[in-house]
Amino acid sequence: MTDTAFVSGASGYIAGFLIRQLMTEGWTVRTTVRSLAGEAALRQRLAVDDRRLHLFAADLTADAGWAEAMAGCRVAAHVASPLPVGVPKNANELIVPARDGALRALRAARTAGVQRFVMTSSVAAIAYGRGRGVHHFTEADWTLLDRPGITPYVQSKTIAERAARDWVEREGGNMEFCTINPSVVLGPVWSRDYSASVLIVQKLLDGSLRACPDIGFGVVDVRDVADLHMRALTTPGLAGERFIASGRFMKLREIADALRAELGPQASRVTTRDVPDWAVRIAALFSPLARAVLGELGSVRHQDASHAKAVLGWQTRPVEQSIADAARSLIALGVVAA
Ligand code: NAP
Repeated sequence: MTDTAFVSGASGYIAGFLIRQLMTEGWTVRTTVRSLAGEAALRQRLAVDDRRLHLFAADLTADAGWAEAMAGCRVAAHVASPLPVGVPKNANELIVPARDGALRALRAARTAGVQRFVMTSSVAAIAYGRGRGVHHFTEADWTLLDRPGITPYVQSKTIAERAARDWVEREGGNMEFCTINPSVVLGPVWSRDYSASVLIVQKLLDGSLRACPDIGFGVVDVRDVADLHMRALTTPGLAGERFIASGRFMKLREIADALRAELGPQASRVTTRDVPDWAVRIAALFSPLARAVLGELGSVRHQDASHAKAVLGWQTRPVEQSIADAARSLIALGVVAA
């Protein structure tokens, strides 16, 4: 019999790569989706040994399905959380499923006797709310939720991680809990239903982002993020740990330049123009998306991933490769014309 791992949100970008890595390494995986209606298509996309992959219906906002999915699992990765393209009017649309879903997964894990629980948090829980200037972040930092310009997504990830840590301290018993806190995840996509993070590359590549505002992100590869989850799931003694998963911080302008350098003529629609801050401020009067980046203008957030490298021997590939592989896969899927 093989060892069994739980992964929430099998339809997701990171979860898909994690499930495939777990199964390549011989694990049986019990995983959740909101609805089993798309099970056949999902199995086809994942292309893993069907006999070792078990799917269960469970929503972050309801109790049904979590206990059944978690039964018999030795380790658990709670990856699912809403990552929307737009900005919801009501922040609770993200906060409630993110926080309550994490608590549902934790309770089910404790009941099932899971030994190690890895939660996919985000640098959103670490590195926001500092405003303009150059900032350096480690796992000791937390996002300042009381500052202006904190988006509902950033709120949801910060509140969910804090709630999970509080619950583990009070009620977690012997279950080892840690978080992985990735920055913006790029790399190859495996279906047209890709994560919102990849939209950055898509919009640059198809030319719909016509100029770059002065914002940026740490970039990390989806394969490296899955690999860090694997290491955290299989390494004992990490209770309470937090691991930043990030490569280099890049301004949007640098991501655009990397696309042109890596893809040549296929990146002919990638903009060479920049938007001045004043124009973003005017756009923010009408556009929720422009409003969402206002708090980030002029902010450089270096996120130090040396802890994961030192403790878990984690390595990252060059960010240019992740950007180029995202772009090439979008072209191969026909999402963006070559
Ligand atoms: P994704 O592809 O959008 O995956 C999100 C997953 O969450 C999907 O499986 C989605 O299911 C599921 N989900 C959302 N709301 C749900 C609900 N109410 N009930 C059940 N499942 C629900 O995004 P991803 O990039 O893989 O993100 C996975 C995790 O990594 C999230 O926790 C995210 O916050 C974190 N993260 C991502 C990035 C990034 O840049 N991508 C960076 C840092 C952290 P459906 O397919 O049914 O919607």
